[in-house]
Amino acid sequence: MKAMLLEKPGEALRAAEIPDPQPGPGQLQVEVSACGVCRTDLHVVDGDLTEPKLPIIPGHEIVGRVSALGDGVTGFDLGERVGIPWLGHTCGACRYCRAGDENLCDTPGFTGYQIDGGYAEKTVADAAYCFPLPGDQSDAELAPLLCAGLIGYRSLVMAGEAAKKLGIYGFGAAAHIVAQVARHQGREVYAFTSPGDDTAQQFALDMGAAWAGDSSEASPVELDAAIIFAPVGPLVPAALRAVRKGGIVVCGGIHMSDIPSFPYELLWGERRIESVANLTRSDGEGFLPLAAAAGVRPEVTTYALADAARALDDLRHGRFDGSAVLTVS
Ligand SMILES: [Zn+2]
Ligand SMILES: [Zn+2]
Repeated sequence: MKAMLLEKPGEALRAAEIPDPQPGPGQLQVEVSACGVCRTDLHVVDGDLTEPKLPIIPGHEIVGRVSALGDGVTGFDLGERVGIPWLGHTCGACRYCRAGDENLCDTPGFTGYQIDGGYAEKTVADAAYCFPLPGDQSDAELAPLLCAGLIGYRSLVMAGEAAKKLGIYGFGAAAHIVAQVARHQGREVYAFTSPGDDTAQQFALDMGAAWAGDSSEASPVELDAAIIFAPVGPLVPAALRAVRKGGIVVCGGIHMSDIPSFPYELLWGERRIESVANLTRSDGEGFLPLAAAAGVRPEVTTYALADAARALDDLRHGRFDGSAVLTVS
């Protein structure tokens, strides 16, 4: 099969022809039809995330069809459409797994990081972590839901049901999905982008934001909560400044530049800063039907598998709105 391999962080992905991966016990072999390109892939390729399996096939927003079943797999049929997310394995035994916080597992395996992912024609995945994807949405539109959507959903849940006026900092893949869900739930979205990024601000308005402006500006209203998707530490004090007493600032990214020091006064008043780490399978069970009910339609720019490096570069430089997706077959 054709696959895009990362052999060493900091180097370009290499197109390779390698044997099809075979499903072990409990695994599905999946013929990949679409794989989203996530900012986390950039952090893997750049070496910001320091524990990859090498070489690694990146990609953890995988949509495909089951092409073979490993021993002992139940609940999936050949040809069935499935999604494979970032959470690829957990131990099931550590204190976090036992408490239902499998996203915090001490010895996890992540797709496209420690487990070969979806920048390839085929992949294998533990069936227990795959989501059935019924419905008639296109493969390319479903792919971004599997990380950007899920992490965005987990961030939105953390922001709380009381967060009617919701700030979103950084308006990319996760934000544009969350904004659609938030609107569906009757919330008002205030979108903050890099100063002067008129394109992203217009995109946010198109996605239903009540207001869009520069992150260097004061918020036009007092926010109940804010979610930060941009990997930019100085946005944390900026968001704290914008939320009301008791308000929550959720950091939704897996990697962020350093947070500058700030006066305690910004945190005072029982404001909170939280981070979202990974996802649980129950997030998928909560989010995927909600996304369908809300009619979430990700804005997708598609690339051929062989153009994965260009897709990553376009993501790095903000050359598209919404999500990039590799269309594989
Ligand atoms: Zn565990
Ligand atoms: Zn991701």
